[in-house]
Amino acid sequence: MTEKPDCIFCGIVDRHAGSDIVWEDKLVLAFMDINPVTDGHVLVIPKVHSVGLTDIAPETAGRMMTVAQRLAQAMKDSDLRCDGVNLFFADGEAAFQEVFHSHLHVFPRFPDDGFTIGAHWDGRSNESLTASALAIRAVLDRDGDGLELTGRGGETRPERDVPPRPRSGHSTSPPRPAGPPAGRGLAANPRP
Ligand code: AMP
Ligand code: ZN
Repeated sequence: MTEKPDCIFCGIVDRHAGSDIVWEDKLVLAFMDINPVTDGHVLVIPKVHSVGLTDIAPETAGRMMTVAQRLAQAMKDSDLRCDGVNLFFADGEAAFQEVFHSHLHVFPRFPDDGFTIGAHWDGRSNESLTASALAIRAVLDRDGDGLELTGRGGETRPERDVPPRPRSGHSTSPPRPAGPPAGRGLAANPRP
């Protein structure tokens, strides 16, 4: 495997850097995160260096998800405390990516495990949801992708007769002012 100089995860793939490996096949490697959100926190990476989500070859991206499924089941069946599992993929600096070799976090969850996601989970009007859908679909339509089964979209959402409520377990902060969100996404164990 060709190592990208200065990439710590390529070093782990090529065994120039140490790690606790839990899975390896032709396409992906999985090893323990050195700063786990909870015990059992694993990173699943492509063995070929890539940076962002869409840089990963489709077959490899699919394998990463399959391996994440297998690891999640292993976590639940293990002696680790694991009532649920989160997957997290940081694609880009704005999404809190810190290591620029693509990786999928897979980590056990249980009540009061300290993991939080800072976000403004405010509801949106139907108009706003439709506008967002159209923004994404404009690109998919342009590229001939999406909506394979019906060829249509946007007509199936039932009208809301009550305002959307914040989802339980998440922040209920007041409407967000314009500007970037505050705080880090993956925040059980803040790193220096
Ligand atoms: P992200 O913010 O998604 O880019 O997260 C990068 C993750 O890589 C962090 O959770 C780090 O703790 C983890 N990490 C960085 N260096 C290593 C390493 N040498 N071995 C294992 N995990 C690492
Ligand atoms: Zn790399």
